[in-house]
Amino acid sequence: MKIVAIEPYVLSDTLDNSFYFSQWHYSSRTICIVKIVSDTGHIGWGEGYGPASIIHAGIQHLSQYVIGQNPLETETIWETLYRRTMDFSRSGVLMSAISAIDVALWDLKGKILDMPVYQLLGGPKREYITPYATGLYFSDDMVDMGRALADEAAMYVDQGYRAIKMKVGIGVKRDIENVKQVRAAIGDDVALMIDANHAYSLREAKQLAREVEQYNISWFEEPISPEYYDQYRELRESTTIPIAGGECEYLRFGFQRLLQAQSIDIAQPDICATGGLTEAKRISTLTSARGVEIVPHTWGTGIAIAAASHFVLNLDPVPGRLVAADHLMEYDRTENKLRDQLTQSDARFEDGRLYITDAPGLGISVDADCVERHRIEVSSATIIS
Ligand SMILES: [Mg+2]
Repeated sequence: MKIVAIEPYVLSDTLDNSFYFSQWHYSSRTICIVKIVSDTGHIGWGEGYGPASIIHAGIQHLSQYVIGQNPLETETIWETLYRRTMDFSRSGVLMSAISAIDVALWDLKGKILDMPVYQLLGGPKREYITPYATGLYFSDDMVDMGRALADEAAMYVDQGYRAIKMKVGIGVKRDIENVKQVRAAIGDDVALMIDANHAYSLREAKQLAREVEQYNISWFEEPISPEYYDQYRELRESTTIPIAGGECEYLRFGFQRLLQAQSIDIAQPDICATGGLTEAKRISTLTSARGVEIVPHTWGTGIAIAAASHFVLNLDPVPGRLVAADHLMEYDRTENKLRDQLTQSDARFEDGRLYITDAPGLGISVDADCVERHRIEVSSATIIS
């Protein structure tokens, strides 16, 4: 059995309504996905998180080490890709290219063996996942920002979500007012998280944490630059709010640095960037040895969501209780036609919970028409995700 084809695609869609967060505006969504085909006629799909055109080039470069290999040997292929690139790229977008290939290989392996990926990873540890709504970004046409965010948050509660994450990082004073209004809108029973996308200094982050502790915040995500491991620890020690981070971190070696510095309470690897499912599984072993919970970062199409779902279904519970508590998973609710139209899945969202079926691989099928509709040439150097 061998791999006979690997083909990356860059897909893009212009948003009807642009939005922004503490760092930049989004006016389009652009993503690199990859299709891998075996000589048995099976197809696996993967996705990379990050600048799509560079990931596309990375996959094209790496394809020479994938073609002809046994598609069941996911770890062997991962090791080859890693060792062929580690001299130049132990983190960053080339690792996203490896991640995309790895996710596609797990999907392919599941399709060949007629088994869901969570089964290949070792089996489910829970019956369902609790997706949390990621939204509450900002837009230029918000007349009353606090009101608009509160209304959006109330909509997620009406849709059944039991946890919501909102953006902060646009000024401490404004953040405090926004958090106050959102908490008032969703009541006390819905979990609320905040995410600054590393917009703040340690001093600002401490101030915001101190002021919003009263609103029962489940975690404060990326408060400060991911480079400042020790400052994360200092912030942790100064607040009762758990500190989350890791979406800019790569491989078990990167997470080892975060853990050694005692920077975080919750680790957030992105499976489509940190090294794929193969490496995310290793990272979960590392974090469980430290008693740190994992809630993966997820931002992309149904391929990335499916990969995160299967990973979370298999995650060991931390703390180590026999009956696993509800486990959260990020569920981006911002405008994204690629997420909504690219894949079909049997997974069902019901009463705030996500149930995964035993469909083979990642349990998704990819709509070829959608790929063709949104496919763009990658010669432009300006393509970003
Ligand atoms: Mg984040």
